[in-house]
Amino acid sequence: MSDKAHPATAGDILVIGGGIAGCATALFLAKAGFRPQVFEAYPDIRGIGGGLQIAPNGLAVLDALGLAETLSARGCLCERAEFRDGRGRLLGTMANRPAAGGRLPVMMARASLQEVLHDQALAAGIPVVHGKRLAGYEETGDAVIARFEDGTTARGDLLVGADGLHSRVRRVLLPDGPEPTYTGLTGTGGWVPAATLARAGLPGAGAMTLFFGAGAFIGCAQAEQNGAAAGTWWSSLARDAPLDAAARVALTGKAGLDTTLAAGGGWNPMVRQILGTTTEMIPPIDIFDIASLPRWWRGRAVLVGDAAHAVAPHSGQGASMALEDAATLARLLRERGLADLAATLAAFESERRGRVERVVAYSRRIGATKKRGPIGAYVQSLVLRLVLRLSPPDFGWLYDHRVRW
Ligand SMILES: Cc1cc2nc3c(=O)[nH]c(=O)nc-3n(C[C@H](O)[C@H](O)[C@H](O)COP(=O)(O)OP(=O)(O)OC[C@H]3O[C@@H](n4cnc5c(N)ncnc54)[C@H](O)[C@@H]3O)c2cc1C
Repeated sequence: MSDKAHPATAGDILVIGGGIAGCATALFLAKAGFRPQVFEAYPDIRGIGGGLQIAPNGLAVLDALGLAETLSARGCLCERAEFRDGRGRLLGTMANRPAAGGRLPVMMARASLQEVLHDQALAAGIPVVHGKRLAGYEETGDAVIARFEDGTTARGDLLVGADGLHSRVRRVLLPDGPEPTYTGLTGTGGWVPAATLARAGLPGAGAMTLFFGAGAFIGCAQAEQNGAAAGTWWSSLARDAPLDAAARVALTGKAGLDTTLAAGGGWNPMVRQILGTTTEMIPPIDIFDIASLPRWWRGRAVLVGDAAHAVAPHSGQGASMALEDAATLARLLRERGLADLAATLAAFESERRGRVERVVAYSRRIGATKKRGPIGAYVQSLVLRLVLRLSPPDFGWLYDHRVRW
């Protein structure tokens, strides 16, 4: 990727959602000479969420923003993954081959990625307005007007829907479009002192450990270099339906910890020891995805990130796909300007759709391995043992991909 100098390009761009996709898109748009403004529903975005992975393809995009080193230094390189069954027996290990450019995936707190992107946007002079929840938008021919729930409006040449899985922009753009699909898994998670991982007999920084129990999965890794609770665990629990109010309570806080420990056919001492030191539970999250939308843009509005193609977290690609979208959309707008938006937004969709839909489908397939019953989980552990020994997966198609900027 090259960071070319380009002439200032007129154009006010309203970015709805100040998450990963929103902040990254605004940063690239500003570099491309546009005037982005970010509108985020929540009053504060700091300190939220569990750990996530940024894959080498996502790190390459962060490189173009000058942020890959900062973030890699905050998080932990993931050199290998260890696979275990629910009883804790080792099924095999898999080394992560460095991708093109020599990078490895990095585990980090979602909050770190979010904060660094957000603060960089502010440092670049991009207005990031909090407490602005989009209610809807209208087009007037030569502009798009965003309406917020507080009664205010904003006017722009283009509106970018970076408002996540349950995107309001998507519902306006595609009123009859598909709703996100519940994948039959709900996640819980928490933060633990990093030393707990080694004490429980797991590798510390540099590796993640994945436990496949019956109808439940738990992953553990060190995700941050610093902090009293730099280790994290995350679970996927098989369920028939998304959480209702009562089920949400049962998966929240101490009750959520107990429910997670009771899942998986009874976890091994390593898992019990790690979860037992949880200092902070992350609110439960139903895992949805969006396999395919009929279109990603209409008129003066376009979708990016989870709003366009929510990826279940199992492939560790949600944030990286959002970053790839951000650089691609801004590059196309830089190259073509705002004159023929229809052609530019169609080019964006066409450049991204095949790749992200493949990643969504891949992630869904991995998710299916996390909800097998006792017999299925046993058979799967035998298969995993063989696969890891004879033919470990090659992530080249994911990690070596580079979007042009
Ligand atoms: C609170 C939170 C915690 C998360 N925790 C994890 C995690 O622990 N692990 C993991 O792998 N992934 C997590 N994710 C998902 C992950 O961030 C995304 O899958 C990925 O980074 C793609 O990012 P995105 O910007 O497209 O979507 P998101 O990260 O979901 O960002 C969307 C943003 O839009 C805002 N928004 C929503 N509706 C509106 C509206 N109407 N008007 C204005 N703003 C709006 C949201 O508040 C949010 O800030 C989390 C997402 C959120 C929002």
